[in-house]
Amino acid sequence: MASLASTPVWTDRVPAAAVIRLGRVALAAVATYAPDEVLSMPADILRNFIGGEWVAAAAGAATREVRNPATEQLLGHVPLGGEREVAAAVAAARAAFPAWRQVPPVERARYLFAFKRLLDEHAEQLAEVVTREHGKTLAEARGSVQRGIECVEVACGAPSLMMGYALEDVARGIDCEAVRQPLGVFACIAPFNFPAMVPLWFFPFAVACGNTFVCKPSEQVPLSQQLIFELAAQAGFPAGVLNLVHGGRETVEAICAHPEIRGVSFVGSSPVAELVYRAAAMHGKRVQALGGAKNFMVVMPDADRPKTVAALAGSAFGCAGERCLAGSVVLAVGGSHEWLRTGLREAAQAVVVGDGTAPDVTMGPLVSKAHLERVRDYVERGVAEGAELLVDGRAAQLPARGWFLGPCLFDRVTREMVVAREEIFGPVLCLASVPDLDAALAWIATHPLANASSIFTDSGSAARRFKYEVEASMAAVNIGVPAPMSFFGFGGAKGSFFGDLKAHGREAFDFYTDRKVLISRWT
Ligand code: NAD
Repeated sequence: MASLASTPVWTDRVPAAAVIRLGRVALAAVATYAPDEVLSMPADILRNFIGGEWVAAAAGAATREVRNPATEQLLGHVPLGGEREVAAAVAAARAAFPAWRQVPPVERARYLFAFKRLLDEHAEQLAEVVTREHGKTLAEARGSVQRGIECVEVACGAPSLMMGYALEDVARGIDCEAVRQPLGVFACIAPFNFPAMVPLWFFPFAVACGNTFVCKPSEQVPLSQQLIFELAAQAGFPAGVLNLVHGGRETVEAICAHPEIRGVSFVGSSPVAELVYRAAAMHGKRVQALGGAKNFMVVMPDADRPKTVAALAGSAFGCAGERCLAGSVVLAVGGSHEWLRTGLREAAQAVVVGDGTAPDVTMGPLVSKAHLERVRDYVERGVAEGAELLVDGRAAQLPARGWFLGPCLFDRVTREMVVAREEIFGPVLCLASVPDLDAALAWIATHPLANASSIFTDSGSAARRFKYEVEASMAAVNIGVPAPMSFFGFGGAKGSFFGDLKAHGREAFDFYTDRKVLISRWT
């Protein structure tokens, strides 16, 4: 087998047609080599996947480095395309739409079954790529890949889940039926924190419904989607059904403005979610824009102590806090504060920070130097505002290279402090005391973001009251990360979500179809 140094995949060194032809050979080679070997091609620029071909960005187009956050090693360059690339991808998707919508749903599902099989076969390799480009531990990466694959599984149910309904004789001799029809071209715009999973929340459902698609991954972590689209190409989707366009802000703006895109699925920070929601809606599109989070975890005095501490620490420090479901503020009710203070300090100190590929490591680096500096700045602001820094992750033993920060734990946090108000998106947990559940619910209700929230308790009535009243669209009892499975909807409320239909689950079939009502009389 040729070495990857001479047969790189997905990049400028290989003609597009060769990449397509390489198919299994290329993937087999990837499987044989460590992801760093595969991807460490400093001169290489990733390609877009448009109309079934791997297409180079325009000569002289701006690019951005992609680096392994654990080692700072250069993994490649991502092209920062814009209007031209989006126009080409949409043209390919638009051209593919009429034939694709006529493929019976049961046959469309068969493409997805083939895609799922390939994803299963390459799940470990995909997890390694996720870890290399994002930094999360391999165990976390594997979990996220599995969650992505589960979306493909649910989308395979399209023949049932896309069904409409009918009634004979809505008036004498007149029948009425409601059918779901695809709309055309959809697009998604993804964040950096789940490089493989988040686009899979969207495009399997969209194409299962008969639409065609343009996917824009985060420019910070573009490699996982390169591999996923290589697998999609192998699964045999007709040219133009699935397209991949790399880029940043200009690409997003082009997607929002393109007249042929019928709907946009966005996941990212709240300010950008709102921008995308407004811009895309102004251009007549459907939009679901999932934004940022500040997740509260309420602990009642009767909660199971060891299990609660473990769940809180996992929620706050898992994925280095780079999760929209990460627990950010613990509201300790009454007497729970003392044992939480001790337990969380011990749990934070027990976290093993390092390269996510090492088996004993339980927390990887932050995604970039800029993000590390941003999170460190929050720690400094917390200290300056008078919060008590019980565990200082800046002083932890950290690898010499890479963008690492140990877990940080603040106590005596008040509602006005910046660390209690803003999304930090790093391994920083705030602890605050509240007298009762009323006070906890009132604190949560005043926060403008409302993604997820949890309560830890042994009391059914406290749990019910929390579920009933808490202002977050994803809420959990005795679970630190309330992540809905792919057959349920995913998305927050208030400033954490712009739109009405959430990601995946049954709602995906509403978002990606028009419900047409047909009324007929035959005499
Ligand atoms: P981000 O908002 O910076 O970027 C998201 C996407 O928007 C990227 O593809 C990026 O290229 C693009 N983008 C960035 N700035 C833009 C601008 N000014 N104009 C147009 N497009 C722009 O988010 P991120 O840092 O990649 O991801 C982290 C954020 O995502 C966090 O706030 C996190 O809570 C959120 N997130 C939310 C969910 C959810 O389900 N609600 C899931 C994952 C992540």
